[in-house]
Amino acid sequence: MRLARGFCLAAGLLCCAPACAQLPGFLRRPPPVKCDWSRGALDPTAALVGKQEFIFDTREPVQIWMVRAGNRIILSGTGMGADARARVDVTAKIAETSDTFSGVCKNRRIGESSQVGMLHAHAPLGSTDVLWRIEVRTGATGARKARRPLVLTVWDVSTVREARKSGIPLHGMLCLGDIPEMELERPATHQFGGRIRLEVNAAQSTFPLSSEQQAAVSNSVLNSVALWVRACIACRLEHLIVVLVDGQVYTRASANAWLAGVMANPASGSAAEQAKALEKALQPVQMLMAGDRKDTPTGKELEQYEPLSEAGRTFLCGLETSPASQRTVDAFRRAACGVAMSGGELSKIRVRFRDGPTACGDDTNVIACRPDLELTEYNARDYRYVVPGTSQADIGAGDLEVDLQHVIAHEMGHWIGLNHIDRGQSLMSSSMENSRCIDMQTVDSLYAQGAGTGVEKFPQAFTMKRRRGRR
Ligand SMILES: [Zn+2]
Repeated sequence: MRLARGFCLAAGLLCCAPACAQLPGFLRRPPPVKCDWSRGALDPTAALVGKQEFIFDTREPVQIWMVRAGNRIILSGTGMGADARARVDVTAKIAETSDTFSGVCKNRRIGESSQVGMLHAHAPLGSTDVLWRIEVRTGATGARKARRPLVLTVWDVSTVREARKSGIPLHGMLCLGDIPEMELERPATHQFGGRIRLEVNAAQSTFPLSSEQQAAVSNSVLNSVALWVRACIACRLEHLIVVLVDGQVYTRASANAWLAGVMANPASGSAAEQAKALEKALQPVQMLMAGDRKDTPTGKELEQYEPLSEAGRTFLCGLETSPASQRTVDAFRRAACGVAMSGGELSKIRVRFRDGPTACGDDTNVIACRPDLELTEYNARDYRYVVPGTSQADIGAGDLEVDLQHVIAHEMGHWIGLNHIDRGQSLMSSSMENSRCIDMQTVDSLYAQGAGTGVEKFPQAFTMKRRRGRR
């Protein structure tokens, strides 16, 4: 977390980041701890560096893994038997220029039980090109008890700030990896899968939002919808094809491109051919997953939402479609024009920033709250919702910064019908510290909902453990 501004506020000085940078050292954030267990992976933009298996073998008690990454990494361990223990030493040096490694984490225990508290290692080397040496010792006790190897995963957190600046972080919120073939064949029985139009009302809060702030909220909402659409691995092609934010109509980029083509050349094919073309444009999720970005497990870049032009909307609304042969075009038309939709096709959500308590109570640990089926509340009294790359759009006066996109994506998950998932690294974890990405566990919960096993709870609070508790 970037706490600089928070520290300035705590010191009674109203200032923003650049001004804080001018302050004397004692008012600024203290130097980071070099090796710290305290928190899980907070930031979804951390880059996966690699995974390595360590077998339990007493004949080779020290196993070494060299990793090249930035100067701040997170190390987590999973896989070995519940009773097994391993210890790690982490040292680091500047790649290519220095000869000796210096210690960062000494003799730290790691394993299954450390999942919730990942090891944050920071090498204050003044370079982001760092060679890490991770030494793992699997003791005799561990070897006897462990049936499975220890799997260590390293994440690079030093690139986070750069990634934020260039607006990459969305992809980090999807960690679906390899999806088994059978998963793709599951019917979209859950309600979320059948929705084609979403109406978001974000304009009213307990304090006025600037145009920059409104744009940031609108963007975060659209990005979150794009994330959840991608996560819906067996949804209709035309799933959430239209989203309205405060009355502005947006549509998926592929649908927009198809529409532009048809408008430019209406006689380019029969109605059935045009419908086929739209289906092709709205690629099924398995094609998106398999996409051309081989370096990321989730395939192609997320499909963005674009404003639907008034001319486009008028054209669509004037189309005569046959639901039988042109289902997708018909759904697009009905969603864009807001006509002839069944109850399961339309959804509404409200986004409210509160300068006081939410329905989840007055606890300062509550970041956001979901009191009912459509309302989501954000605690702007105790938190400041930040947007990468700009401070113009920050919302709230709180002394702790949280990522606006992250919190809205989490709340959007509730709107879809998900409860908190306090296992694995789900974005839907009840605590910000453990909330990371949309994983398979999260997708499974989405489908369980359709099977009638997911009973929603209200209100639901998204929290962060802070020093101060209840007011
Ligand atoms: Zn929540």
